[in-house]
Amino acid sequence: MKTILPGQTIGIIGGGQLGRMMGVAAKEAGFRIAVLDPTTDSPCGQIADIEIVAPYNDEHALEELSKVSDVITFEFENIDYEGLKRLTEKAYVPQGAELVRITQNRINEKAEIQKSGAPVAPYIAADTFDELVQKIDQIGFPCIVKTAFGGYDGKGQVKLDSKEQLEEASGLFTHSSCIAEAFVPFEKEISVIIQRNLAGESYCLPIAENIHKHHILHESIVPARVDSNVLQQAEKAAEKIASHLELVGTLAVEMFVLTDGKIVINELAPRPHNSGHYSIEACNISQFHQHIRAVCGWPLRKPKLWAPSIMVNVLGEHVEPLTERIANYPDWSIHLYGKAEAKEKRKMGHVTIMTESLEDTLQEIEQSDIWKD
Ligand code: AMP
Repeated sequence: MKTILPGQTIGIIGGGQLGRMMGVAAKEAGFRIAVLDPTTDSPCGQIADIEIVAPYNDEHALEELSKVSDVITFEFENIDYEGLKRLTEKAYVPQGAELVRITQNRINEKAEIQKSGAPVAPYIAADTFDELVQKIDQIGFPCIVKTAFGGYDGKGQVKLDSKEQLEEASGLFTHSSCIAEAFVPFEKEISVIIQRNLAGESYCLPIAENIHKHHILHESIVPARVDSNVLQQAEKAAEKIASHLELVGTLAVEMFVLTDGKIVINELAPRPHNSGHYSIEACNISQFHQHIRAVCGWPLRKPKLWAPSIMVNVLGEHVEPLTERIANYPDWSIHLYGKAEAKEKRKMGHVTIMTESLEDTLQEIEQSDIWKD
């Protein structure tokens, strides 16, 4: 295991907001940042010391990144696996490429979660629509069919309530193989962010309760308003998955909480996660600082929540109403990611509010009139 020290350079594949927040955390300690992103002036490019502008799978660009970096990490999982694998042979990539290979494909991801012993919804995998039709009775209805590759924020998914609707899922197969999983009548969605270094030291951040609107994360409420028994099961499941996958870095584990208090794992992301942004203000260690510690071979810090908190995402349509009202909310921590165009539904920033009363603050957010549907 190498220890990477301030003054050395951390290379980040991906220049979005996650890369930016990782970079800001690293720069506080005096690291230098190099970023690879296809666009100039990306959110991370704006704060990086070295900006390499090229597609993620450009061999020359990856070569250049490895030359200037003492360690390389990534901010998202949809990078070219083969390219990343080759990079692990030339550069120091302590996270490896295996977790990216697994989480890029829902079929592999589900199988590995199951192998770790953590609970998943009953599911089947199908390469073709005909195979789906043949196997669907194994899980029944209602169910959700999801493309194995490339879906996010509810894209590439179809919910089916009965056999008559099956045809609606046929289009998904033009994209990739699919999984179909039983629809889980959940009460809440929560996420556990677990972080681990090469020495095997690992910690979970306080667990977030996630509220989605139009399939996009809207709010994360911390601590999640669930029984302590649920919190324990959730941490245990995340630990099982992290040790099974020999995690280095960060893994976000999204879960459903059922009415009987049991949990079911929905999906994984091998990187800092939107539902962990609250930790920047609300914890003694943010997910980004801990991620940098993990990939630089530093000891990890046991996370502690300073106060209950709510994180609200700021999408394109929320930027104007938020900036108009900033003066009304001195206690809100405003984060905007420096994206040029405030397109509708595009994640432009977030707000974190530490509070004595989650319920009062939820009401305050509602009444602010910023997050209208
Ligand atoms: P995903 O892209 O897998 O995170 O799914 C997006 C959203 O669809 C989730 O946040 C849930 O609200 C819903 N969803 C996904 N899978 C299931 C399931 N098996 N049962 C019920 N709801 C689901």
